[in-house]
Amino acid sequence: MLKDRNAVITGSTSGIGLGIAEAFAGRGVNVMLNGFGETAQVEALRRRIAAEHGVRAEYHGADLRRPDEIADLMAQAEACFGAVDILVNNAGIQFVSPVEDFPPDKWCDIIELNLVALFHTIRHAVPGMKRRGWGRIINMASAHALVASPFKSAYVAAKHGVAGLTKTVALETAAFGITCNAICPGYVLTPLVQKQIPDTARARGISEEAVVRDVLLAAQPTKQFVTVEQVAALAVFLAGDEAASITGSLQAIDGGWTAQ
Ligand code: NAD
Repeated sequence: MLKDRNAVITGSTSGIGLGIAEAFAGRGVNVMLNGFGETAQVEALRRRIAAEHGVRAEYHGADLRRPDEIADLMAQAEACFGAVDILVNNAGIQFVSPVEDFPPDKWCDIIELNLVALFHTIRHAVPGMKRRGWGRIINMASAHALVASPFKSAYVAAKHGVAGLTKTVALETAAFGITCNAICPGYVLTPLVQKQIPDTARARGISEEAVVRDVLLAAQPTKQFVTVEQVAALAVFLAGDEAASITGSLQAIDGGWTAQ
């Protein structure tokens, strides 16, 4: 059913985005990969995905803090595949600091990548989706689109912004066969989370073990990390025809975190 659709998945050289790219490719979707990484490694990844799944896998290294590079990414995807049917806005970064010490350039970087870039990819994708009468926009938000945690002012602000953007785009596109939803994961043990463990330990003055036990998993009643595969399966479901009536939603996949 998803076979021969074409997807752009931002931030797909690592973590959740890579898992989503693999899951879509496994269902016959052509994928445009994006994200940072060492050239040879990214090329090996692109070739492996194409060979393992028999799909087209392309790569564009756009820095999504730059609107001109986003325009080029979206134009190249259209040119390569003839259409962008599925847009997964996944790329994101984190930085942990008390608000009064938060470096202003890092604050702006987080807003640019985690929020403003989504506006740009969406504005480039929507005209083609409207013309074809079908489209899926999936924004990787976070439990932090629904609730806050201390020391994450930029991230929480950006992700709450993603929630608002998701709902607004859903309303504007609902009559055109397009859905726009946000996925709101709890903690998934990816490089993004691994990197923030030492910073959180410093900010809170506790050990790294205590961060995992008392900060990260303390938030999740399951006491388990969410897995990349679970998030990818939800993205695949949202892209399918069975999910045609789900739009403007914020899908929590957080081990019960935001139920509390
Ligand atoms: P990750 O660090 O493993 O991957 C991030 C990806 O984004 C990488 O491919 C990286 O190269 C890319 N990227 C970073 N800066 C970029 C830029 N300027 N331009 C283009 N690409 C860039 O992180 P992850 O944990 O897989 O996170 C993916 C998304 O999931 C993010 O939006 C994150 O906020 C969200 N999320 C993660 C968790 C979690 O616990 N890991 C929880 C909730 C939400």
